[in-house]
Amino acid sequence: MNWTRSLTLALATQKCTTCRGSGLTIGRGGAFQACDCVLRGIFKVCYNKFRTCVEKEKYLSKVSLEIHSGPNRRGTWGRKDEEYVADFMAISRRALNDYEYKIFSFRFLLGADYHLCCRRLKMDRGSFHHEIYNIQEKLGQVFAELQPYALYPVHEYFSGSPRQRAVAALPANESKVTPIRPPVQRPQVNDPALDGLKAA
Ligand SMILES: [Zn+2]
Repeated sequence: MNWTRSLTLALATQKCTTCRGSGLTIGRGGAFQACDCVLRGIFKVCYNKFRTCVEKEKYLSKVSLEIHSGPNRRGTWGRKDEEYVADFMAISRRALNDYEYKIFSFRFLLGADYHLCCRRLKMDRGSFHHEIYNIQEKLGQVFAELQPYALYPVHEYFSGSPRQRAVAALPANESKVTPIRPPVQRPQVNDPALDGLKAA
């Protein structure tokens, strides 16, 4: 994923001392990366949508038709709210290790406040918030960079076209075809087989 200022600027924290409000940092290879404040912002957007989908009255959930590109354009019917909830939980479980997921489930799935989490996990307040920041940044990056369909931007998940890029012809294969030939050996002068051929 190519991180640009237009993608990060709205989510960047103006008081961030790392990116100074631009939302971008330079990674090891010299490429731009999203700042941690942006990744935490992405997580919060996805988490808020998750809570909305979970807390919404079930009669408000609706079935929607998703049109597919390509020769078979029939599309499929689905429940986007329920799919989003399932994706959010499955991606989080896959991206976090057991220890991180335990903290994540207490804080974000069960909704415990930090007093209760610290007492249950036997952690001090500083370590708990450090772990929460780490989890938010890790999941924010996964939610944004997931392929082929990311959770963020959320509006694209719910209403975006399944086709992520413009349809184009495959590039022509420019490499030349090399014929396969068996190795050829120069005939020996005193080869008895050649003598037989000459006599015939
Ligand atoms: Zn920042």
